[in-house]
Amino acid sequence: MTISRDAVLDWLKAFAATINENAAYLTQLDSDIGDGDHGANMNRGMQAVLTALPGVADKDVGSIFKTVGMKLVSTVGGASGPLYGTMFMQMGNATAGKMELTLDDWVAAVQAGYDGVIMRGKAQPGDKTMVDALTPGLAALKGQRDNGAAIPEALNAAAAATRQGMEATIPLVARKGRASYLGERSANHQDPGATSSYYLMKTAAETWK
Ligand code: ADP
Ligand code: MG
Repeated sequence: MTISRDAVLDWLKAFAATINENAAYLTQLDSDIGDGDHGANMNRGMQAVLTALPGVADKDVGSIFKTVGMKLVSTVGGASGPLYGTMFMQMGNATAGKMELTLDDWVAAVQAGYDGVIMRGKAQPGDKTMVDALTPGLAALKGQRDNGAAIPEALNAAAAATRQGMEATIPLVARKGRASYLGERSANHQDPGATSSYYLMKTAAETWK
């Protein structure tokens, strides 16, 4: 089984829809420990992505991801714009020329995107950011791949691990981003960026089942 180019487009639409449905919730999370714009930022970005997708729908997956990344950089703003933008641009580099993805290709894409987020934001696991959701998600994905899992199982395990990583941000004290200005008061709140990153992995699992 592989993930077709059309399935990749379906995932991006599903991610945009989930961000749209949860924009108020993401903004609420960001109001608690930030400036209350994460839902609006991500929704603006993914709606812009939706308008750009028809223009690249006949291109390779790498070109599609690079277009998504560039759109996000130019429309999302804040901390998450460059971070999500870099993630997708690096995913695009990792999938250049591909018209479909194997599980190995998807693992390589997520790894490249993750490395891009770390390179750009310099956050470590435990800093209470999107990295805390993506780190266990990527680890689970690689573990599944190494055990020879099929794509649906691997993606479900990755989504579950990403969710646990998201929930594990609740007790953490933020050391990166705006939430870090709150110091100890940032504890007992779920990180908004970790939550949008969970949606990314969740919608992939739901779309490619
Ligand atoms: P801003 O903080 O500029 O208002 P957003 O509200 O859109 O931007 O995004 C906030 C999210 O960005 C945080 O919840 C966190 O997950 C993520 N974030 C902030 N700084 C970093 C960083 N240096 N590395 C990784 N993620 C970060
Ligand atoms: Mg914010």
